[in-house]
Amino acid sequence: MPQTVLVTGGAGFIGSHTCVELLDHGHDVVVVDDHSNSSPHALDAVQKLAGRPLAGAHRVDLRDRAALDSVFAAHDVDAVIHFAAKKAVGESMRIPLDYFDVNIGGTTALLCAMHEHGVRRLVFSSSCSIYGDTATVPLGEDEPAGPTNPYARSKHICEQLLGDACRRYPELSVIALRYFNPIGAHPSGMIGEDPTGVPNNVLPYMAQVAVGRLDELAVFGDDYPTPDGTCVRDYVHVVDVADGHRVAVDHLDDEAGLRVLNLGTGTGASVLELVARFSAAVGRPIPYRIADRRAGDVPILVADPSRVAAAWGWRTTRDLADMCADAWKFQRSHPHGYRSA
Ligand code: UDP
Repeated sequence: MPQTVLVTGGAGFIGSHTCVELLDHGHDVVVVDDHSNSSPHALDAVQKLAGRPLAGAHRVDLRDRAALDSVFAAHDVDAVIHFAAKKAVGESMRIPLDYFDVNIGGTTALLCAMHEHGVRRLVFSSSCSIYGDTATVPLGEDEPAGPTNPYARSKHICEQLLGDACRRYPELSVIALRYFNPIGAHPSGMIGEDPTGVPNNVLPYMAQVAVGRLDELAVFGDDYPTPDGTCVRDYVHVVDVADGHRVAVDHLDDEAGLRVLNLGTGTGASVLELVARFSAAVGRPIPYRIADRRAGDVPILVADPSRVAAAWGWRTTRDLADMCADAWKFQRSHPHGYRSA
Protein backbone atom coordinates (compact mmCIF):
# COMPACT_ATOMS: atom_id res chain seq x y z
CA MET A 1 0.00 0.00 0.00
CA PRO A 2 1.47 3.39 -0.96
CA GLN A 3 1.99 5.57 2.08
CA THR A 4 3.05 9.10 2.86
CA VAL A 5 6.44 8.77 4.56
CA LEU A 6 8.11 11.70 6.30
CA VAL A 7 11.89 11.32 6.10
CA THR A 8 13.96 13.44 8.50
CA GLY A 9 17.48 13.98 7.18
CA GLY A 10 16.16 13.04 3.75
CA ALA A 11 18.83 15.04 1.91
CA GLY A 12 21.66 13.28 3.72
CA PHE A 13 23.65 10.28 2.60
CA ILE A 14 21.39 7.42 3.69
CA GLY A 15 18.28 9.61 3.64
CA SER A 16 18.60 10.52 -0.03
CA HIS A 17 19.08 6.90 -1.08
CA THR A 18 16.08 5.89 1.02
CA CYS A 19 13.92 8.60 -0.59
CA VAL A 20 14.73 7.10 -4.02
CA GLU A 21 13.77 3.59 -2.84
CA LEU A 22 10.50 4.88 -1.37
CA LEU A 23 9.61 6.88 -4.51
CA ASP A 24 10.53 3.90 -6.72
CA HIS A 25 8.08 1.78 -4.73
CA GLY A 26 5.17 4.20 -5.10
CA HIS A 27 5.30 5.95 -1.71
CA ASP A 28 4.85 9.70 -1.32
CA VAL A 29 7.82 11.28 0.42
CA VAL A 30 8.05 14.41 2.57
CA VAL A 31 11.58 15.50 3.51
CA VAL A 32 12.53 17.46 6.60
CA ASP A 33 16.20 18.50 6.66
CA ASP A 34 18.06 21.48 8.12
CA HIS A 35 20.89 20.98 5.57
CA SER A 36 23.49 21.29 8.32
CA ASN A 37 25.36 18.38 6.69
CA SER A 38 23.56 17.99 3.36
CA SER A 39 22.91 19.84 0.15
CA PRO A 40 19.45 20.79 -1.13
CA HIS A 41 20.82 19.73 -4.54
CA ALA A 42 20.69 16.13 -3.31
CA LEU A 43 16.89 16.43 -3.40
CA ASP A 44 16.96 17.66 -7.02
CA ALA A 45 19.02 14.57 -7.90
CA VAL A 46 16.64 12.30 -5.94
CA GLN A 47 13.62 13.56 -7.90
CA LYS A 48 15.44 13.33 -11.22
CA LEU A 49 16.57 9.79 -10.47
CA ALA A 50 13.15 8.63 -9.30
CA GLY A 51 11.35 10.50 -12.10
CA ARG A 52 8.81 11.72 -9.55
CA PRO A 53 8.58 14.80 -7.32
CA LEU A 54 8.73 14.76 -3.54
CA ALA A 55 5.43 15.55 -1.83
CA GLY A 56 7.28 18.21 0.16
CA ALA A 57 10.71 19.40 1.26
CA HIS A 58 11.03 21.52 4.39
CA ARG A 59 14.16 23.17 5.74
CA VAL A 60 13.49 22.61 9.43
CA ASP A 61 15.58 21.85 12.50
CA LEU A 62 13.68 19.14 14.41
CA ARG A 63 14.20 20.99 17.67
CA ASP A 64 12.05 23.83 16.29
CA ARG A 65 8.74 22.38 17.48
CA ALA A 66 6.57 25.08 15.90
CA ALA A 67 8.14 24.52 12.47
CA LEU A 68 7.92 20.75 12.86
CA ASP A 69 4.25 20.97 13.86
CA SER A 70 3.48 22.95 10.73
CA VAL A 71 5.06 20.19 8.60
CA PHE A 72 2.85 17.54 10.25
CA ALA A 73 -0.16 19.84 9.83
CA ALA A 74 0.56 20.24 6.10
CA HIS A 75 0.81 16.51 5.28
CA ASP A 76 -1.17 13.42 6.13
CA VAL A 77 1.83 11.42 7.38
CA ASP A 78 1.46 7.61 7.68
CA ALA A 79 4.98 6.80 8.86
CA VAL A 80 8.25 8.52 9.74
CA ILE A 81 11.83 7.48 9.03
CA HIS A 82 14.15 9.41 11.33
CA PHE A 83 17.71 9.88 10.07
CA ALA A 84 18.43 13.50 11.00
CA ALA A 85 21.31 13.39 13.48
CA LYS A 86 24.96 14.07 13.96
CA LYS A 87 26.93 10.92 13.21
CA ALA A 88 30.68 11.16 13.68
CA VAL A 89 32.37 9.26 16.50
CA GLY A 90 35.49 11.45 16.65
CA GLU A 91 33.54 14.72 16.53
CA SER A 92 31.25 13.49 19.30
CA MET A 93 34.25 13.17 21.62
CA ARG A 94 35.03 16.86 21.00
CA ILE A 95 31.50 18.30 21.15
CA PRO A 96 29.40 15.82 23.15
CA LEU A 97 26.77 18.35 24.19
CA ASP A 98 25.92 19.09 20.55
CA TYR A 99 25.38 15.36 20.06
CA PHE A 100 23.02 15.17 23.03
CA ASP A 101 21.19 18.30 21.93
CA VAL A 102 20.73 17.39 18.25
CA ASN A 103 20.34 13.62 18.50
CA ILE A 104 18.38 13.23 21.73
CA GLY A 105 16.64 16.62 21.57
CA GLY A 106 15.70 16.10 17.92
CA THR A 107 14.29 12.63 18.55
CA THR A 108 12.30 13.85 21.56
CA ALA A 109 10.81 16.75 19.60
CA LEU A 110 9.92 14.42 16.75
CA LEU A 111 8.20 11.96 19.10
CA CYS A 112 6.20 14.80 20.67
CA ALA A 113 5.11 16.08 17.25
CA MET A 114 4.16 12.56 16.12
CA HIS A 115 2.16 12.10 19.31
CA GLU A 116 0.36 15.38 18.86
CA HIS A 117 -0.54 14.58 15.25
CA GLY A 118 -1.56 10.97 15.82
CA VAL A 119 1.35 9.43 13.87
CA ARG A 120 2.29 6.13 15.49
CA ARG A 121 4.69 4.42 13.08
CA LEU A 122 8.43 5.11 13.12
CA VAL A 123 11.64 3.64 11.69
CA PHE A 124 14.60 4.90 13.72
CA SER A 125 18.15 5.17 12.43
CA SER A 126 20.24 3.47 15.10
CA SER A 127 23.82 2.30 15.05
CA CYS A 128 26.05 -0.70 15.67
CA SER A 129 28.30 1.61 17.68
CA ILE A 130 25.86 0.99 20.54
CA TYR A 131 27.53 -2.40 21.09
CA GLY A 132 30.82 -0.72 21.99
CA ASP A 133 34.03 -2.53 22.80
CA THR A 134 33.07 -6.18 22.68
CA ALA A 135 34.94 -9.35 21.81
CA THR A 136 31.78 -10.87 20.32
CA VAL A 137 31.92 -11.54 16.57
CA PRO A 138 29.42 -11.40 14.98
CA LEU A 139 27.13 -9.21 17.07
CA GLY A 140 23.52 -10.20 17.64
CA GLU A 141 20.87 -7.74 18.82
CA ASP A 142 20.76 -9.22 22.33
CA GLU A 143 24.39 -8.39 22.96
CA PRO A 144 24.56 -5.85 25.83
CA ALA A 145 25.03 -2.23 24.87
CA GLY A 146 28.24 -0.49 25.95
CA PRO A 147 28.61 2.84 24.14
CA THR A 148 32.21 4.12 24.13
CA ASN A 149 31.55 7.63 22.79
CA PRO A 150 28.82 10.32 22.99
CA TYR A 151 27.54 9.54 19.48
CA ALA A 152 26.89 5.90 20.40
CA ARG A 153 25.46 6.95 23.75
CA SER A 154 23.04 9.35 22.09
CA LYS A 155 21.75 6.54 19.85
CA HIS A 156 21.45 4.15 22.78
CA ILE A 157 19.54 6.72 24.85
CA CYS A 158 17.19 7.33 21.91
CA GLU A 159 16.46 3.59 21.69
CA GLN A 160 15.71 3.58 25.42
CA LEU A 161 13.40 6.61 25.09
CA LEU A 162 11.60 4.89 22.23
CA GLY A 163 11.18 1.75 24.35
CA ASP A 164 9.69 3.78 27.20
CA ALA A 165 7.36 5.62 24.81
CA CYS A 166 6.18 2.29 23.34
CA ARG A 167 5.45 0.93 26.83
CA ARG A 168 3.34 3.99 27.67
CA TYR A 169 1.62 4.21 24.25
CA PRO A 170 0.93 0.64 23.07
CA GLU A 171 -0.37 1.87 19.72
CA LEU A 172 3.18 2.93 18.77
CA SER A 173 5.11 0.75 16.36
CA VAL A 174 8.84 1.46 16.17
CA ILE A 175 11.65 -0.35 14.36
CA ALA A 176 15.20 0.66 15.30
CA LEU A 177 17.64 -0.37 12.59
CA ARG A 178 21.16 -0.70 13.92
CA TYR A 179 23.28 -0.39 10.87
CA PHE A 180 26.91 -1.06 10.59
CA ASN A 181 29.04 1.08 8.21
CA PRO A 182 27.06 2.32 5.19
CA ILE A 183 29.27 3.32 2.25
CA GLY A 184 28.93 3.34 -1.55
CA ALA A 185 26.47 5.31 -3.64
CA HIS A 186 23.57 4.78 -6.01
CA PRO A 187 24.89 2.82 -9.04
CA SER A 188 23.65 5.64 -11.32
CA GLY A 189 26.34 7.91 -9.83
CA MET A 190 23.67 10.61 -9.42
CA ILE A 191 23.52 10.57 -5.61
CA GLY A 192 26.18 9.74 -3.06
CA GLU A 193 27.96 10.93 0.06
CA ASP A 194 28.79 14.64 0.13
CA PRO A 195 29.69 15.67 3.68
CA THR A 196 30.07 19.33 4.61
CA GLY A 197 33.68 20.22 5.47
CA VAL A 198 36.44 17.67 5.93
CA PRO A 199 34.89 14.17 5.99
CA ASN A 200 34.91 12.33 9.31
CA ASN A 201 34.20 8.89 7.87
CA VAL A 202 36.81 6.76 6.17
CA LEU A 203 35.30 6.19 2.71
CA PRO A 204 34.36 9.79 1.88
CA TYR A 205 37.78 10.86 3.16
CA MET A 206 39.50 8.38 0.82
CA ALA A 207 37.27 9.43 -2.05
CA GLN A 208 38.35 13.06 -1.59
CA VAL A 209 41.99 11.94 -1.54
CA ALA A 210 41.32 10.14 -4.83
CA VAL A 211 40.11 13.34 -6.53
CA GLY A 212 42.96 15.40 -5.08
CA ARG A 213 40.98 17.43 -2.57
CA LEU A 214 42.92 15.88 0.32
CA ASP A 215 46.54 14.66 0.38
CA GLU A 216 46.44 11.30 2.11
CA LEU A 217 44.32 9.17 4.40
CA ALA A 218 45.36 8.87 8.03
CA VAL A 219 44.72 5.29 9.12
CA PHE A 220 43.80 5.56 12.78
CA GLY A 221 45.89 2.91 14.54
CA ASP A 222 47.59 -0.29 13.35
CA ASP A 223 48.10 -1.88 16.76
CA TYR A 224 44.59 -3.19 17.37
CA PRO A 225 44.05 -6.90 18.10
CA THR A 226 42.91 -7.61 14.51
CA PRO A 227 44.62 -9.57 11.70
CA ASP A 228 46.45 -6.56 10.22
CA GLY A 229 46.23 -4.33 13.30
CA THR A 230 43.71 -1.88 11.79
CA CYS A 231 40.05 -1.71 12.87
CA VAL A 232 37.55 -4.09 11.30
CA ARG A 233 34.07 -2.90 10.31
CA ASP A 234 31.07 -4.42 8.54
CA TYR A 235 30.74 -2.14 5.50
CA VAL A 236 27.28 -2.28 3.95
CA HIS A 237 26.12 -0.78 0.64
CA VAL A 238 24.00 2.33 1.16
CA VAL A 239 21.42 1.06 -1.36
CA ASP A 240 21.01 -2.11 0.74
CA VAL A 241 20.56 0.07 3.83
CA ALA A 242 18.01 2.22 1.98
CA ASP A 243 16.18 -0.90 0.81
CA GLY A 244 16.15 -2.15 4.43
CA HIS A 245 14.36 1.04 5.50
CA ARG A 246 11.82 0.75 2.71
CA VAL A 247 11.10 -2.86 3.71
CA ALA A 248 10.88 -1.84 7.38
CA VAL A 249 8.06 0.59 6.53
CA ASP A 250 6.15 -2.34 5.03
CA HIS A 251 6.62 -4.31 8.27
CA LEU A 252 5.67 -1.60 10.77
CA ASP A 253 2.21 -3.05 11.25
CA ASP A 254 3.46 -6.61 11.93
CA GLU A 255 3.56 -5.85 15.65
CA ALA A 256 3.40 -2.93 18.06
CA GLY A 257 6.19 -1.81 20.39
CA LEU A 258 9.91 -1.43 19.77
CA ARG A 259 11.82 -3.90 17.63
CA VAL A 260 15.60 -3.72 17.20
CA LEU A 261 17.25 -5.18 14.11
CA ASN A 262 20.81 -5.19 12.75
CA LEU A 263 21.45 -4.21 9.14
CA GLY A 264 24.83 -5.55 8.10
CA THR A 265 26.46 -8.10 5.82
CA GLY A 266 28.02 -10.36 8.47
CA THR A 267 31.46 -9.86 6.91
CA GLY A 268 34.17 -7.56 8.22
CA ALA A 269 36.95 -5.68 6.43
CA SER A 270 39.91 -3.87 7.96
CA VAL A 271 40.78 -0.25 7.13
CA LEU A 272 43.78 -1.45 5.08
CA GLU A 273 41.59 -3.91 3.17
CA LEU A 274 39.17 -1.09 2.42
CA VAL A 275 42.05 1.09 1.20
CA ALA A 276 43.16 -1.75 -1.11
CA ARG A 277 39.65 -2.36 -2.46
CA PHE A 278 38.98 1.31 -3.05
CA SER A 279 42.40 1.72 -4.70
CA ALA A 280 41.47 -1.13 -7.05
CA ALA A 281 38.20 0.62 -7.95
CA VAL A 282 40.02 3.90 -8.62
CA GLY A 283 42.80 2.16 -10.56
CA ARG A 284 45.71 3.61 -8.56
CA PRO A 285 46.90 3.45 -4.95
CA ILE A 286 45.28 5.81 -2.44
CA PRO A 287 48.11 7.41 -0.42
CA TYR A 288 47.86 6.74 3.30
CA ARG A 289 49.92 6.90 6.47
CA ILE A 290 49.49 5.15 9.78
CA ALA A 291 48.42 7.60 12.49
CA ASP A 292 47.53 7.38 16.17
CA ARG A 293 44.37 5.63 17.27
CA ARG A 294 41.24 7.77 17.23
CA ALA A 295 39.62 8.28 20.64
CA GLY A 296 36.35 6.38 21.03
CA ASP A 297 37.12 3.72 18.36
CA VAL A 298 36.73 0.00 19.01
CA PRO A 299 38.71 -2.75 17.24
CA ILE A 300 35.95 -4.73 15.57
CA LEU A 301 32.23 -4.46 14.80
CA VAL A 302 30.61 -7.10 12.57
CA ALA A 303 26.88 -7.82 12.37
CA ASP A 304 25.01 -11.01 12.89
CA PRO A 305 22.34 -10.28 10.27
CA SER A 306 20.24 -13.40 10.95
CA ARG A 307 17.37 -11.80 12.88
CA VAL A 308 16.24 -9.55 10.02
CA ALA A 309 16.74 -12.45 7.59
CA ALA A 310 14.46 -14.67 9.69
CA ALA A 311 11.88 -11.91 10.26
CA TRP A 312 11.55 -10.50 6.75
CA GLY A 313 13.64 -12.76 4.51
CA TRP A 314 15.81 -9.66 3.96
CA ARG A 315 19.55 -9.66 3.37
CA THR A 316 22.15 -7.46 1.72
CA THR A 317 22.94 -8.18 -1.93
CA ARG A 318 25.94 -5.96 -2.71
CA ASP A 319 29.60 -6.63 -1.85
CA LEU A 320 32.62 -4.49 -1.03
CA ALA A 321 33.66 -4.26 -4.70
CA ASP A 322 30.19 -2.84 -5.56
CA MET A 323 30.46 -0.37 -2.66
CA CYS A 324 33.87 0.89 -3.79
CA ALA A 325 32.94 1.04 -7.50
CA ASP A 326 29.71 2.94 -6.83
CA ALA A 327 31.30 5.35 -4.34
CA TRP A 328 34.01 6.11 -6.88
CA LYS A 329 31.48 6.61 -9.68
CA PHE A 330 29.75 9.33 -7.64
CA GLN A 331 32.96 11.01 -6.48
CA ARG A 332 34.55 10.94 -9.93
CA SER A 333 31.50 12.59 -11.50
CA HIS A 334 31.05 15.00 -8.55
CA PRO A 335 34.61 15.87 -7.45
CA HIS A 336 33.22 18.76 -5.39
CA GLY A 337 30.05 16.97 -4.36
CA TYR A 338 26.67 18.27 -5.47
CA ARG A 339 28.22 21.70 -6.07
CA SER A 340 29.98 20.13 -9.08
CA ALA A 341 26.69 19.47 -10.88
N1 UDP B 1 39.20 5.69 9.97
C1 UDP B 1 40.49 5.96 9.57
N2 UDP B 1 40.76 7.18 9.01
C2 UDP B 1 39.79 8.14 8.84
C3 UDP B 1 38.47 7.83 9.25
C4 UDP B 1 38.22 6.61 9.82
O1 UDP B 1 41.39 5.13 9.71
O2 UDP B 1 40.10 9.23 8.34
C5 UDP B 1 38.89 4.38 10.55
C6 UDP B 1 38.27 4.45 11.92
O3 UDP B 1 39.26 4.47 12.91
C7 UDP B 1 37.41 3.18 11.93
C8 UDP B 1 37.04 2.96 10.48
O4 UDP B 1 37.94 3.74 9.71
O5 UDP B 1 38.20 2.10 12.34
C9 UDP B 1 35.61 3.41 10.17
O6 UDP B 1 35.48 4.72 10.66
P1 UDP B 1 34.25 5.63 10.26
O7 UDP B 1 34.46 6.96 10.92
O8 UDP B 1 34.07 5.64 8.78
O9 UDP B 1 32.99 4.86 10.87
P2 UDP B 1 32.69 4.37 12.39
O10 UDP B 1 33.05 2.92 12.42
O11 UDP B 1 33.52 5.20 13.31
O12 UDP B 1 31.23 4.60 12.55
